[in-house]
Amino acid sequence: MIIFKKIVEFKNYLRKLKNKKKKIGFIPTMGALHDGHFSLISRSISENDLSIISIFINPTQFNNQNDLFSYPSDLKKDINSLKIISENLILFNPSSEEIYSGNIVSNVFSFGGLDKYMEGKFRKNHFQGVATILQKLFDLVKPDNVYFGEKDFQQLRIVEYFVSNLGFNLNIIRCKTIRTDDGLALSSRNKKLDISSQKIATNLFKALNFVKENFDTLNFEKIYNKVRHFLSEFSEIKIEYFIIADEKDLKPIKTKDKNKKYRAFIAADVSGVRLIDNIKLY
Ligand code: AMP
Repeated sequence: MIIFKKIVEFKNYLRKLKNKKKKIGFIPTMGALHDGHFSLISRSISENDLSIISIFINPTQFNNQNDLFSYPSDLKKDINSLKIISENLILFNPSSEEIYSGNIVSNVFSFGGLDKYMEGKFRKNHFQGVATILQKLFDLVKPDNVYFGEKDFQQLRIVEYFVSNLGFNLNIIRCKTIRTDDGLALSSRNKKLDISSQKIATNLFKALNFVKENFDTLNFEKIYNKVRHFLSEFSEIKIEYFIIADEKDLKPIKTKDKNKKYRAFIAADVSGVRLIDNIKLY
């Protein structure tokens, strides 16, 4: 596996690759890799000539310095795991200085209103930071296919919008959410939870599943009340938002239109760790 830390060296390598007309799959991550990331990587390996992974904890997408500094990181373990998957992977692991040259600020993007709700509302400027780093990485890597998890569905929709709006010549590939056997969506942040909190966190999925099972029969008020009531029984869980939204424009809804597709979205603090999850309701 080749590891690049410097943009100049990475660029030189990529230039040679492009001359060989290799199809490039790209998986941007913040590291502390788990089976969710590995599923994206495996898919990229099967669909491209070469797969490039980036590990970069992007400071501009954090609206809270404590959250940034306590974000899980284990580069050695990540590198070992990647080597086991394939020796042919390329890892880009730059420093913050390398990416931002001391000027840690976001560019300004418009997301057509997709950032008005949920993460966009509760994590100010989060998506401006996400788009800033992705623009830099896409310009550098010039990938053919880029892999994103439905686990971060709002991010996925915003990336789809921004890629088409800015005219990037690449495909965004949606990948399904990988969960533990008892339903907890895998996340790097789960590493901050002890075993008992991880068990409690599975109730977020139970709540989402309840919505899916009852979406056709219960009205919205009942669904919202039942979810809030069910989760209020766990003192470790504090809901930040629970929303049913159109999966295309992400607008929260109160009435159903049979021709539209919906998802239920949740963000909650579980024993001091902020988790998000979502489920499709069709
Ligand atoms: P992150 O390292 O958290 O920025 O995530 C990098 C990529 O992995 C994003 O596209 C995420 O949506 C995706 N991802 C994270 N967790 C999961 C999961 N449990 N299942 C599938 N994809 C995931």
